Amino acid sequence: MLDAQRVKELALSMGADAVSIGSIDRWEGAPIQMDPRQIMPEAKSVIAMAFRVMRGSLRGVEEGTFFSNYSSMGYGGITYLYMPMTVINLAKAIEDEGYEAIPYGHQSDWRAIDGVGKLRKNYSKAVEPGRANPDVMVQLRIASYLAGLGEIGFSKMLLTPQFGPRQRVGIMITEMELEPDPIMAPGTLCNRCMACVRACPAGALSETETVKVKLGGYDVEWTDIDVKLCDETFTGGVRVPKGEKGYYKPGSDQFKPAWFSPFYKKPRNLYNTGQAICGSRGCTRACMISMEARGVIGNKFHQPFRRRKTWSIDWSDYDPSKEARPIGDPLYTHAETEKKETD
Ligand code: SF4
Ligand code: SF4
Repeated sequence: MLDAQRVKELALSMGADAVSIGSIDRWEGAPIQMDPRQIMPEAKSVIAMAFRVMRGSLRGVEEGTFFSNYSSMGYGGITYLYMPMTVINLAKAIEDEGYEAIPYGHQSDWRAIDGVGKLRKNYSKAVEPGRANPDVMVQLRIASYLAGLGEIGFSKMLLTPQFGPRQRVGIMITEMELEPDPIMAPGTLCNRCMACVRACPAGALSETETVKVKLGGYDVEWTDIDVKLCDETFTGGVRVPKGEKGYYKPGSDQFKPAWFSPFYKKPRNLYNTGQAICGSRGCTRACMISMEARGVIGNKFHQPFRRRKTWSIDWSDYDPSKEARPIGDPLYTHAETEKKETD
């Protein structure tokens, strides 16, 4: 018979780097579109697992010489390959005991709500009154916090005692009742140093505008992140001033390379979504540096992460007239490459 201790041992042996368990009652009051009980009404536990991003995967971005590793091995590879295998294998072990288990990774493309939590227009209908519109999207960071895996930092990133902001998360919703772990009190890891705010190249993290919610009995507050601005910027492009043109992003003439991208054009996505040219400069790298300096991250290194002066690119010589590129260029996106192949 599996108990909480054995489930954790299994998760770690299957590849998770940290694991924690929350009871389903902690979701009382959750918005209907984010409530795991809408997916599994008989759920008893939510298990959260952290999968570390190698600090080495951020090295090439930090040095300005090798960007693909963070987007592939540090993001897409963990999210779409490594983590699902662990979560699925743990779900098998729980289902072998006769309890349903939902292995839950990053599957938000089908969600009924948009990036700010509003229902997407003309997207889906509830199957009956009182049920959520499909797909429900369980917020992985909130699930992790409610399971006691870590706290939600001011940056809105999940911070864990093992890796700070440096991990991806997978969860499992299950009918199996397991001994829950305590929730981490807000402020245990995040000291509001604001390093994330200062270093975000998009300026997407507000120091003054915040979101306040009650979660698991605690008042939790994080920056009211400008999701649209982060989305626009983290791939390494900035909007051109009105009347100008730029060809950094495929399918648009409104972006030019930013000071934190050495690429003339945004490189194509890796593992479907990986395109993090900013290398999470504020929300991960600056936060990690700050937390490491305070000695609050368990995964310790012999050398500090930041070893040289930070770099930036001078794009004052950017000439849009030379940059318009025909559809189908192999350096562009899958969609455009596919279009070329079907033309
Ligand atoms: S950088 Fe500082 S304020 Fe921002 S999340 Fe990390 S610890 Fe909190
Ligand atoms: S991913 Fe980059 S742009 Fe987005 S919040 Fe983090 S540091 Fe800012």
